[in-house]
Amino acid sequence: MARLLKIAAAFTLIAIQVCPLFGAESEAGAERGESQPALRWRSKVITVSLSTSLLRPAANVKGGSDLVEAVRRSLKTWENASGVSFRVVFSDRQDVSPQGALGDGVNLITVAPTAENALLFAKSAETDAATTRVFFDARGRISEADIVLNPYQQFSTDGTFGTFDLESAFTHELGHVLGLEHSSVRGSTMYETFGKNGLFGLQDLSHRTLAEIDRAAVRAKYGAPADEDCCGTVSAKLLMAGGRPAADIEVWLEDRESGKVVSESVTGNDGVAEFGGVPSGNYSVFARRGDGTKKSVPLQELDPVEISAGAATSFTKKLELRPDDLDVKYTGFNGQLTLSSVPINAGKSYTIYLGGRNLKPKGAKISFSSPFLEVTPGSIASHDYGEGLGVLSFEVQADTRTPVGEYTIFVESASGARSAIVGGISVRTFANPFSNFIFDNKLQ
Ligand SMILES: [Zn+2]
Repeated sequence: MARLLKIAAAFTLIAIQVCPLFGAESEAGAERGESQPALRWRSKVITVSLSTSLLRPAANVKGGSDLVEAVRRSLKTWENASGVSFRVVFSDRQDVSPQGALGDGVNLITVAPTAENALLFAKSAETDAATTRVFFDARGRISEADIVLNPYQQFSTDGTFGTFDLESAFTHELGHVLGLEHSSVRGSTMYETFGKNGLFGLQDLSHRTLAEIDRAAVRAKYGAPADEDCCGTVSAKLLMAGGRPAADIEVWLEDRESGKVVSESVTGNDGVAEFGGVPSGNYSVFARRGDGTKKSVPLQELDPVEISAGAATSFTKKLELRPDDLDVKYTGFNGQLTLSSVPINAGKSYTIYLGGRNLKPKGAKISFSSPFLEVTPGSIASHDYGEGLGVLSFEVQADTRTPVGEYTIFVESASGARSAIVGGISVRTFANPFSNFIFDNKLQ
């Protein structure tokens, strides 16, 4: 390690991060947090070079798809959310920079099915939609980032089933270009898994638009657009019952008015979780053990926090310890049980499935922190998916005024154990026609 650091100091550029955008399976947060500096560009103006391969895509891109336009919309999406602006130029280059200490300094976006590019997908041709190779120094300053689409996968811009949506893929990868890590909030653009069109029998264009958590993440690095007065920070220090720092605890904030998930973070070895780029407002705070810990930390709600623009808030909290034997992991819809968020529309009701360890329908309670979402009383039903996995379904009713966003599904077992799927339901404007019924207006 000492040797590595010395080399790092000598060359300043030490690392390459290859971040796949997964098709169906989770990467299980492999990139999160571990001894990697927070990545960031020094300048808020970033030049990206569009490879001429975008003008003449290969047969894996549906004919008539306008890739340049898809990239431009993705760039605009991040510009509208943050203080970053992009300069676009064209380049004859086709290949991403090879692995090594230094790239060529060109931030290339390419779809060329060259041997060099295909190599990046040697082990993941079946699953990845795209990947981003980021070059950065020991202090996390990014010097180059290249995006390449997986030449073995099919892409489109019109929602064709069985293809990945181009704009969604570019928007996710551009998040990595900006130094963002994966989010564990389902339904967010930076969530680590990403469905093809056809998952749940739906077109999936939801990653084209940023979730609140994506906006907070990019604003934490680059601030808000110049004309917006935005964002405070929160620092939460969590302790175990004995007073030691509680490491690897997932903490997230939900807007108290809408119930939307707004920011998420994981505590480090010092027990501290930091939140930046959070808009002014009042937030509920929730905590639970992260994926990497065996500690028995049940899902719990902490005291709410108020955040003001430009202000830094902090609090310390000792975590409660209680039985923690319920682990709800899967969300399902239309017969598919997945690690994805289920997209629904406001003003309709839907049957949602949940799967997990020790999940039993008898005595189970399902709830939302959002006043706009309700579980239909008596709608919880049991399903047999074989041994080892408990599966139940329930009907959710979304008020006509439910804002677009990601919402957490909270589950409590008969014994009082609690679990949650953060962002398990996404309210979207693109149609999910598989509703049970439609309301005129539920809340008067
Ligand atoms: Zn990714």
